[in-house]
Amino acid sequence: MNGSHWHAQLRDTVRTVDQLARVLTLSPRELDGARRAEAQGLPLRITPYYLSLCDPLDPSCPIRRQCVPDAREAEDVPGDLVDPLGEVVHEVAPHLIRRYPDRALLVATDRCAVYCRFCTRSRLVGDGGGAVSLDALGPALTYLEGHPEVREVIVSGGDPLVMSTPRLVALLGALRRVPSIELLRLATRAPVTLPMRITQELVKALRPFHPLWVMTHFNHPKELTVESLGALARLVDGGFPVMNQTVLLRGVNDDVAVLDTLFRGLVRARVRPYYLLQADPVRGTGHLRTPLARGVEIMGALQGRLTGIALPKFICDTPGGLGKVPLGPEVIVRKGPGVTRLRTFRGDEVDAIDPPDDTR
Ligand code: SF4
Repeated sequence: MNGSHWHAQLRDTVRTVDQLARVLTLSPRELDGARRAEAQGLPLRITPYYLSLCDPLDPSCPIRRQCVPDAREAEDVPGDLVDPLGEVVHEVAPHLIRRYPDRALLVATDRCAVYCRFCTRSRLVGDGGGAVSLDALGPALTYLEGHPEVREVIVSGGDPLVMSTPRLVALLGALRRVPSIELLRLATRAPVTLPMRITQELVKALRPFHPLWVMTHFNHPKELTVESLGALARLVDGGFPVMNQTVLLRGVNDDVAVLDTLFRGLVRARVRPYYLLQADPVRGTGHLRTPLARGVEIMGALQGRLTGIALPKFICDTPGGLGKVPLGPEVIVRKGPGVTRLRTFRGDEVDAIDPPDDTR
C-alpha cells in the first residue's frame, strides 16, 4: 500500500459547502448544517474515501448521517452538555484526562480525517493547533511518571493516526519509557474513515510498542469495505489486538438486523465488538440519539441470536464523568434465600440454586 495515498486523502478532504454540494444532493437541513459548520461549531471534514460510501441522493444514508452536518446541530435539547464526560474537570495535566484509578487518556491531537457529527469531544476537535508537541506533553508525561498506579494510557484525540508516523512513534516511545505503563491503547477511526493510513510501514513502526491495543469505531456494515477489511487484516496480522466501539445512533444503526450484520462482520475480520455505547449527550446531537430503553431492547434481541464473541456490552458513560454503567435486559426475576430465578433469552424462567453453606 502506497503511503502517499493517505496523505492525498487528507489533502483532498471535503471542507466546504460547495465541495460537498458537488458530490451530494444536499437536503435543506444538510445545506443549513454545512453552512453553519463552515462558520462555527464542529467543522466539516470528510475524506474522499468516506464520502464515496455516502449515497449521493439519500440524506437518510447511514454514512451521510454520520459525517454530513445537519441544521439540528444548532438545537439544544434537555440533557445536552458541552463536555458530557466531565473531561475538563478530570484533566490532571494539560492534555491528560484521568477518570479511573488505573488508566488515563491522552489527547494527542485535535485533528481527525472525518469529523463525526456525534463526536463526544466536539468541543475541542478541529479547534486547536493540530498534533500536540512532545514538549507540550511534558507535564502529562511527568504526571504519569509520578503516578505509577496508572498502568494504561489511551492515546486518543482527535485521531492519533492522522499524525505523522515519526511523531506518533516519538510519542509512543516517550510513553513506553515510563516503566509503570503496562498497556498502551490507540483510539482511532482511521480503519473506518482513512483505511489507507494502515500501511505495512505503519504496522512495522508500531510493532515495538506491544502490548498496543487498537480501539476502533465502526458503526455500520457499509463501513466494512474491501479497504477497511484490508486495514484491519494488516493490524491483526501485525499482532495488534483490535477492539471496536460502536455508538448507537438514531437512523444509523438503531436496528437489530444492522447491528447483527455489523458485529458478525467485525468478528469475521478478527475484531472484537467490545462496547455498544449509548450516544453521549453532546450538545447539538439530540437528533442522532436514541432513548436508553432502545439500546436495552436491542441487546435483548441480540442476546442468544449472536455468538458471545460478537456480542458487545451495552454501556452508558454517565454524564459528568462518573464512569461507565453496563446495561442489558432484566434477567433476574426474583431473588430468594439460596435461589435466584433467572429469565433466559427465550423467555423461560429457571431457578439457579446456590450450594449449601459449607459449615465444616
Ligand atoms: S474520529 Fe473520533 S474524535 Fe474524531 S470526530 Fe470522529 S468520534 Fe470524534
